[in-house]
Amino acid sequence: MKEKIGVYVCHCGKNIAETVDVEEVTKFASGLPGVKIARHYIYMCSEPGQELIKKDIKEHGLTRVVVAACSPTMHEPTFRRACADGGLNPYLCHMVNIREHVSWVTEDKELATEKAMDLIAAAVNRVIYNEPIQTKKLPIVPAVLVVGGGIAGITTALNVAEAGIKVYLVEKTPSIGGRMAQLDKTFPTLDCASCILTPKMVEVAKHPNIQILAYSEIEEVSGYVGNFKVKIRKKPRYVDESKCTGCGTCAEKCPVRVPNEFDMGLSSRKAIYIPFPQAVPRKYTIDAEHCLYFQKGVCRVCEKFCDRKAIDFNQKPEIIEVEVGAIVIATGYDIFDASKIPRYGYGRFDNVFTSLEFERILNASGPTNGKIVLKDGRTPSSIAIIHCVGSRDENYNKYCSRVCCMYSLKFAHMIKERIPDAKVYEFYIDMRAFGKGYEEFYKRVMEEGVEIIRGKVAEVTDIPLTPEEEGKLIVVAEDTLLGVVRRVPVDMVILSVGLVPRKDAPEIARMFNLSIGNDGFFIEKHPKLAPVATATSGIFIAGCCQGPKDIPDTVAQAEAAAAEAIDLISKGYVETEPYVSIVDPERCSGCRICISLCPYGAISFNKDKEIVQINDALCKGCGTCASACPSGAIKQLYFTDKQILSEIAGLLAVKKEKPPESIVVSKPS
Ligand code: FAD
Ligand code: SF4
Ligand code: SF4
Ligand code: SF4
Repeated sequence: MKEKIGVYVCHCGKNIAETVDVEEVTKFASGLPGVKIARHYIYMCSEPGQELIKKDIKEHGLTRVVVAACSPTMHEPTFRRACADGGLNPYLCHMVNIREHVSWVTEDKELATEKAMDLIAAAVNRVIYNEPIQTKKLPIVPAVLVVGGGIAGITTALNVAEAGIKVYLVEKTPSIGGRMAQLDKTFPTLDCASCILTPKMVEVAKHPNIQILAYSEIEEVSGYVGNFKVKIRKKPRYVDESKCTGCGTCAEKCPVRVPNEFDMGLSSRKAIYIPFPQAVPRKYTIDAEHCLYFQKGVCRVCEKFCDRKAIDFNQKPEIIEVEVGAIVIATGYDIFDASKIPRYGYGRFDNVFTSLEFERILNASGPTNGKIVLKDGRTPSSIAIIHCVGSRDENYNKYCSRVCCMYSLKFAHMIKERIPDAKVYEFYIDMRAFGKGYEEFYKRVMEEGVEIIRGKVAEVTDIPLTPEEEGKLIVVAEDTLLGVVRRVPVDMVILSVGLVPRKDAPEIARMFNLSIGNDGFFIEKHPKLAPVATATSGIFIAGCCQGPKDIPDTVAQAEAAAAEAIDLISKGYVETEPYVSIVDPERCSGCRICISLCPYGAISFNKDKEIVQINDALCKGCGTCASACPSGAIKQLYFTDKQILSEIAGLLAVKKEKPPESIVVSKPS
């Protein structure tokens, strides 16, 4: 055999070596046909580990390399780079996963060792047939699409735009701002949310590199990293944005009042409206579902009073097509629907509010102008705040929503600030004050006289058992520190609802080819090594669409996503994986079966030659066409029949023989 194969077995500290006998595996590998050298080392991915490979390629003239270590998702690029540095085509290197596929899933050391040997034998038999293949460099479109205009999307857009790159910022609602625009003050520093958010919103609007596409949604996405084509549907506002000055005369005159979603239904707005006074863009929108003209064909009062002649009842949805090199998804979160837990009385008792409703009550521009009042206008003298509503609960969401403990403490502080005599109770399961300055904030709130009770609330009831409970809401909970069941009568209850994935997350995931975790949030490529990348190259995620988080973490993640997008674009080109399919023109019968099967539209029919051709910029190497072609005319590079069948043959033909004496087996240094 002319091939000289090097086999490298990694201990991964104790991750592999504790379960797999790496020394025995290395001895076994050294005896396989074509193997010139076999080594084991404590961390193959480390600098010295990679150096071993590079040195052996040069000194022993290795023609193929097999690395038995962790998942290729983690370190295949590392070992390919090491091979390339050693002078070998990177695709002549093959990885075997003896961690996730062996040591982490096989308890019996003997069986694990045997399985590792089998997989290495298969890889050695396959790597012989690996062919040198080349990546391709494709130009990149110097523009970025950001989906979602909350604090995550705003931060990403500004950072990317500041780097001189064009940004399209798509927001579903009529204004950017997201949930942060609804908050009053933010923990733990108690900055006014609007004071830090609205200047950023204005900056976005004024930035020459940012085009805001508000009241718009993504219709279709095609293409690939560096060259995405996106169709955006701009919904009709029935107000000409170029004419509307945001004077508000139309809304003043509009006779229709509907619940104001920005105030969580605690106030009303008109059928022509802006979501909140600091909205960006400050352009009015007609809510056709409630407008008298659209519903009954009467009214048109707004049109009559608009001096600018901005009202346009004939506006139609508009499809805008853009091309971008990278995409950042920042679609945020929804809040848990508190009515799913009827025993807490939301929707049944007037004075049970959700946390987001309470944020609006606290807000100076909210439904009560910042006054904490009950539904009948009285000032409450006692308020209970219930943590973990819909979070850390086997019946709803198992995960911790990460912000509720802190915003609940923030509420307690603000209640004490505005109604110093009020009794404030916090019912918690565990207090999670993990961030910078959070523990100090927790201590401060305790010193302000807030009663913090450890125990899950069983129910909120209005049935009194004592005269003091008359006319009150009674919070029934087990105080687990005192070991007693307590009944705490209060005037108002605030439910600290958790953060949940947005309802349309599955649709967004399908459109952008993202993965969704068990909790319903989008999954990053790797939690530690690629926290904002996704499995689709060129698409990044930031903020609460990836999982619940506070504003500091959201901003940090948004900056990271921006940095990744800038990095990608500023390189000027993208290198594509060479695992594409190729057509053998001699064998293609022109049946065109493959064309209809290719999910990426990469195959077309060449009428002159009467055969199909594959656009390797569009081909994602899924292999569908190669397996479907009845003439066997399509071959997928790196996954040819010969390579796959040899791998299987190697697996089946394993014989554990003693290695010949001449082979070097090195110990870890
Ligand atoms: P969002 O704010 O949800 O923004 C997402 C944006 O994307 C929205 O504008 C949405 O309309 C848009 N969008 C969604 N889907 C699409 C689509 N398909 N196409 C286009 N646009 C789309 N954090 C703190 O640090 N301090 C606090 O004091 C604090 N208080 C809080 C109080 C409450 C009651 C709650 C519930 C949360 C609180 N938080 C706090 C957390 C804070 O709200 C989040 O960290 C922050 O809002 C996350 O920002 P985001 O941009 O990821 O998501
Ligand atoms: Fe003013 Fe006309 Fe715009 Fe209404 S639509 S805010 S009246 S300019
Ligand atoms: Fe309001 Fe519609 Fe009448 Fe305009 S036409 S004033 S939006 S109800
Ligand atoms: Fe399309 Fe074939 Fe490429 Fe898959 S492998 S993307 S089916 S051309």
